[in-house]
Amino acid sequence: MTKFTSPIPLISLKGISRSFKNGDSEIKALNDVSLDIYEGEFVAIMGQSGSGKSTLMNLIGCLDRPTSGTYYVRGYDVADLDQDTLASLRRDTFGFIFQRYNLLATSTAVENIEVPATYAGLDAQHRRERAQILLSSLGLDDRGSHRPNQLSGGQQQRVAIARALVSEPTILMLDEPAGGLGSQDIEWMNQLIKNLSADMSVLLV
Ligand code: ADP
Ligand code: MG
Repeated sequence: MTKFTSPIPLISLKGISRSFKNGDSEIKALNDVSLDIYEGEFVAIMGQSGSGKSTLMNLIGCLDRPTSGTYYVRGYDVADLDQDTLASLRRDTFGFIFQRYNLLATSTAVENIEVPATYAGLDAQHRRERAQILLSSLGLDDRGSHRPNQLSGGQQQRVAIARALVSEPTILMLDEPAGGLGSQDIEWMNQLIKNLSADMSVLLV
């Protein structure tokens, strides 16, 4: 099916490099990367461990800044945005599923999912309702009051996905979503990602 997209890329990297200083030496995690992602696209970036995938995802999600090069979101140079604009851009545009899920250990599944909705200013009742609906849709109806250490890896990842979806992002980004999962969870996850990609842009690294 043809997808009609805006002529301006959702995401545009132009000659992006990111180096890390390590004592006297310097690690070049990304070297002159240029990449456009249009709204609705499904993009998978493959590379061996240490090739810069997570670094790229952090830059795209505005959690980090490049050493050189220019990064545009919907045509806006991210370097020109003030802190408040950047914060709301990040909140409204990106849904993150990190490699290690990064769930709050002392919070329940439902509370974890509610966190971004709190920042988005949704009232408590709506937050709880949305969190419950997402949990149910991910097959975790009866796990809302469980803490991360009471959940399997696949279940924690589903909570992380629900947390990413609660603010209805334009682009969902997943860092090695198959890593550490059993074959059943991987199958389930692949199907879920495929379904979600009908409604939003997806970036897999
Ligand atoms: P991948 O996700 O593809 O495994 P990463 O983006 O995590 O790769 O890392 C790319 C390279 O950058 C690696 O050599 C890694 O050690 C280095 N690196 C990543 N983050 C940092 C950091 N915060 N400080 C120093 N080096 C880093
Ligand atoms: Mg990584």
